Amino acid sequence: MNENSLEVVTAIQAITMASSLCQKVQKDLVAEVTLTKSDRSPVTIADYGSQAIICKLIKDIFPYDTIVAEEDSKELTIPGHSRILEKVTYYVNESIPNSSPEEVCAWIDSGSHSLADRFWALDPIDGTKGFLRGGQYAIALALIERGVVRLGLLACPNLYRDIHQTESEKGCLFFALRGKGSFQMDMKGGDRRVLSGLKVEDPSELFFTESYESNHSDHLFQQRIAQKLNITKPPLRMDSQAKYGIVARGEAVLYIRIPAPSEPGYRENIWDHAAGSIVAEEAGGRVTDALGHLLAFSSGIKMEKNYGIVVTNGISHDLVLKALGFSD
Ligand code: AMP
Ligand code: MG
Repeated sequence: MNENSLEVVTAIQAITMASSLCQKVQKDLVAEVTLTKSDRSPVTIADYGSQAIICKLIKDIFPYDTIVAEEDSKELTIPGHSRILEKVTYYVNESIPNSSPEEVCAWIDSGSHSLADRFWALDPIDGTKGFLRGGQYAIALALIERGVVRLGLLACPNLYRDIHQTESEKGCLFFALRGKGSFQMDMKGGDRRVLSGLKVEDPSELFFTESYESNHSDHLFQQRIAQKLNITKPPLRMDSQAKYGIVARGEAVLYIRIPAPSEPGYRENIWDHAAGSIVAEEAGGRVTDALGHLLAFSSGIKMEKNYGIVVTNGISHDLVLKALGFSD
């Protein structure tokens, strides 16, 4: 597979169309005074719309490919939810004119939770809480073959091109191909730049990143690990797989995700890590669980055998695993 392969061209087209739907929904609904933080309807509309578009575009070109995606249309077909389905259809129509509600549901349902030898993993909106807060979210799409992520795309519409410069442009499309590198582009797929992480051995004085939500990972424990590594800067907290992108860009040397004490048995979903992991790895990074095991993308939608996630620039990985103390 190379950058001109049909898989790559289709995936870029699908993810850019889905991103513009998400951006429109966010813009329209932020303008609506009725939007409250607890109102999940905008994220629902964007989730379904994004999944419908990406599944349709992939299935048009690769009808026999399996797509493992987070959503299904069950909720949308409940009579009381017809308004939501109407809205999803309205937004999908802006990209795919004349699509009917039935077609939109069928496209959503062309995603499933059953894995295959080769399959696409899709999170139509990763970081739903960030989406609602106007913070970070990502549309994440990966192609996995026999357990290996071959291609990953992460669209981050709210991420600055340079995290420390808020006057820089917003909107990043990360793209990685196994063996061919990791790149950042603008949201239309232009202005491509090669990513190579940050090649330092000693992570002290550098930034680490973690979830914004305190119940998605153990902030206190992670803070202690950062201290052990002599990282003195406060954590860069953000939602979604954008965190993988900033490690790939070298703005953070480390992303740690240890289950929070409120949910110690939490196991990660494959669509929450497949695209991000290849973006970091192809930039020279390393991605394992907290015990140093590779992430298992082919055993089910949950990575049952993996505990936590550790992403580094590569060089400092063993040091971080040692500081965590889960492996022998
Ligand atoms: P983040 O934005 O990095 O905090 O991660 C968002 C993802 O966290 C969502 O896509 C959920 O699948 C996932 N998630 C939900 N509950 C938990 C939890 N208790 N621990 C870890 N991740 C979770
Ligand atoms: Mg997610």
